[in-house]
Parts: sequence; structure tokens; C-alpha cells
Amino acid sequence: MNSVSLFTPAPHLANDMAEVLRLYLGGISLLVNEAGGEITLRHDEREENGERIVAATDGVCRHETRERVTGDAVVDKRLRRRQAKLCVYELMKRRFGYAPPWGSLTGIRPTRLLYAGLESGLSLEDAAAQMQATFDVSDEKMAVLREIVAVQQEELTPPAPHEADVYIGIPFCVSRCAYCSFLSGEVGNGSLLAPYVAALKREIAHALQLLEDTGLSLRAFYMGGGTPTSLPAGLLREVLTAAAPLMRACREITVEAGRPDTIDREKLQALMDWGVTRISVNPQTMHDQTLATIGRRHTCAQTESAYRLARSMGFDHINMDLIAGLPGENLGMFAQTLDWVRALDPESVTVHTLSIKRSSLLHLWEAQLPDGDMVADMVRLGARAAHDMGMRPYYLYRQKYMAGNQENVGYARRGHACLYNVDMMEETGSVLALGAGAASKRIFPQKGVIRRAYNVSDICQYIHRVDEMAQRKRELFTL
Ligand code: SF4
Repeated sequence: MNSVSLFTPAPHLANDMAEVLRLYLGGISLLVNEAGGEITLRHDEREENGERIVAATDGVCRHETRERVTGDAVVDKRLRRRQAKLCVYELMKRRFGYAPPWGSLTGIRPTRLLYAGLESGLSLEDAAAQMQATFDVSDEKMAVLREIVAVQQEELTPPAPHEADVYIGIPFCVSRCAYCSFLSGEVGNGSLLAPYVAALKREIAHALQLLEDTGLSLRAFYMGGGTPTSLPAGLLREVLTAAAPLMRACREITVEAGRPDTIDREKLQALMDWGVTRISVNPQTMHDQTLATIGRRHTCAQTESAYRLARSMGFDHINMDLIAGLPGENLGMFAQTLDWVRALDPESVTVHTLSIKRSSLLHLWEAQLPDGDMVADMVRLGARAAHDMGMRPYYLYRQKYMAGNQENVGYARRGHACLYNVDMMEETGSVLALGAGAASKRIFPQKGVIRRAYNVSDICQYIHRVDEMAQRKRELFTL
């Protein structure tokens, strides 16, 4: 890890500038206005003749930018932050001699910037050109973004103000994947499962009452976690029975059955009986050795048989998640995984790029991780395979610490884009979220404001305080 001394008259912008530095330097420890870093940067800003002049230097190179001050405090605050980031970005670009694929962008939802251009009255082409010129995004990534926005506009209607999605979280998995960043505990001896389901049923009952009181209509239902199919069939049926009125009110019902080692006929039958329209069976890779390295205690053969079982029972929308950049994998191995997925013929795939938040793992895997260029090739190969399967990209998001500065992209055949995923990523829809760690969200479109209510993440706390969680949601949706 590099340490960077950043000298700045605006310490509140230090984290923004650090995000840009991480594009080039990876994990850094930042010393703000303190000497001692391996790299020293100086950021400066001043106003002159109605312009904000920002400069950054590393002692060798220097970059300066000028931007007109608008006089609108909110706009100028945003522009000041952006200008600081862009200035540091240009300095780093000159120092290292290359531009990352997403240019200076560090946010999770790059499509939002394209939509902002559309909302200001620009055409898609002009909005894309403006975005590319501002943030230095590569042609390749801009082309994906343009296609995603076009697909969303063609296939999906944005949620109406009185509509909301429902999320139910089952925060248990049979074992923890080494790279997992979700709230997920191991099932362990199973002692928490029944109390958790009892609390969840109570929260579902509160949610039904809330819907009746507020007149909200529902749009998409998503049960994730964790892995909902980690629950024994009896408890899974209990949750589905309690949630049935919510599911019936939705036009799309997804349940994550991500871990193949949790899938059996009885559980799939329960999902069928309650009208689930979309499930995920996630291979991540089709190499047993990699599965063992990343702590997924199932084999590729189990993935294939779980998938075939679901298909034989009549599931007609199965999604498969893959990860590019897994330890020990190379382009040929990733291509084999894609060939295998192509042969199974799912309706949608999501190609993730490995994101490692825990530095201990990075250290453990360092020698085995594919380099950034290879990960970029894997991502390209994933896009080509999805295209060959008749799919188009329909949502995209980025995370911190992604291998090769890439992204996660969902691809689907026409008519199979997941509404819930798009609502989440574009932040266009309100969400009633139930379960430990779930985050409810209410969008106020006229004011352009989003408010949130969080459930506690700790499973025991959730079980004991479920009525309080329900009350938080009531307050959010009756504001
Ligand atoms: S299956 Fe998903 S939620 Fe469960 S441990 Fe693995 S990454 Fe985490």
C-alpha cells in the first residue's frame, strides 16, 4: 500500500481526491496536510475574475484547470469537488502515462451521468459526448453505457411515484465466499434460522399493513441475501407463504438461489408454487479448483445439475452470475466457463469483476490474481459471449477495488431484463426492504430527494427489534 501526503487548503475534499488516486495507486493510506508519505501531492485553489483556478502538483508535473463560478451555492459546491478530482486525475494521467477505462469516474452508477445529460434536454449521442469529454471515459465503456440506456428506455418503464419494489433479505449462506461483501452469516448449527424467519414474518405483516395504509402499489419483488435457499424447505415455505400477498402484487418475482449446494427439488417446487418468475443459479466459475480457493463449497457438477433440475421443473428465466478476475484464472479458463454457460443457455447472465475489499485476501491471492489487462480481456470476452447468446447489456454498476478498474454488467435476452436490478442501480424507485441489514428507500421525484430507513444488520438485534424496524419504515413512507 502506498502512503500519500496530500497538502490541500480544502481538507474536506481530500477523500474525493483520494478516490482518484486509488484509480492509479490502488489501496493508499492518505496523510492530509501531513508530511511523511511516499508520494507528496499539493492541491491548491483560488478564485480570480469569476473563475475558480485549481492546480495540483507532485513536485515534477503540474496541472491547472479553470472553471467559471456560477454563484449558485449548490452547483458551485458540486463543481468545486469535481474540479479537484479532475485536476488530480489529469496529474496522475500525466505521471503514469495512461487513462483508466472509466477515466476519472469513481462512482458506482455511471449511467446516472448519462441520464443527467438526457434530463437537461440533450440527445443520447450528445449526452454521451459531453460525458466522455468531461470524464475521459474510454470509447469502449461509453458504447456499453449508451447501449444500456437505450435498452432501458426501450424495454422498461420507470416506476411511477406511487410504486415501490419489495426486497426481502435472508442473510444466511452455507459457507462464506472469501470475497463476500454482503451481509451474510453462515447457517452454522441453524439455531438462528427459525427465530429469524419468525421476526421476518412479523415485519412482513407490518409491511402489508403499511401498504394498505399508504396505497403504495408494488412493482418488483426480490428475495436475496445471503442465499434464501439456504433455509430448509419448511422455513422457506413459511417465508413465501407470509410474503405471498406482496409477491402477488408484483409483476416480477426474483428469488436468489445462488449457491447450487442449497438447491433441491423441494425448495424449487416451493418457489414454483408461489409463482417465482426468475431465479439465479450462480456458477461464478466452472473450475473446481477456483471454487475451492474462493471458499464456495460446491462443485461445477452441482451447479450444472441444479441448473438442469430447475429447467426441467419449468423455470423459464434463470440468471447466472460469473466473476472475471478470480485467483488462479486466465483468459482461457474464463473462456471455458463462458462456453459452458453458453451450452446451458440461461436467459440472463451477470458478469462481475472481482472486487476485493479485504486487504488480507489481496495479500493471500496476490501472486494468483490476473493482471488488469487480462481482466479487461475477460470482461470483453464476457460481453461477446452474452452477445452471442442473444443478450444485451441492461444494467451496470461499479464497486471500489475492482480488478482492472472494470465493472459489473447484467445482460439479458429481450424481455428478460430484471426490473428490480434496474430500479436499484438507477435509483429511480422506492423500496420497501425487509430483513436484517435491509435498506428501505423512498424517492421524492419532484424534490429530487431520496430518503432511507435502515434495518439493523446484526441478526440477533434484528430479531429483538423487528417492531422498531417496521416503525422506521412507517415513518419513511408516511412522511
Ligand atoms: S453466496 Fe453470495 S452472499 Fe453468500 S457468502 Fe457467497 S458471495 Fe456472500
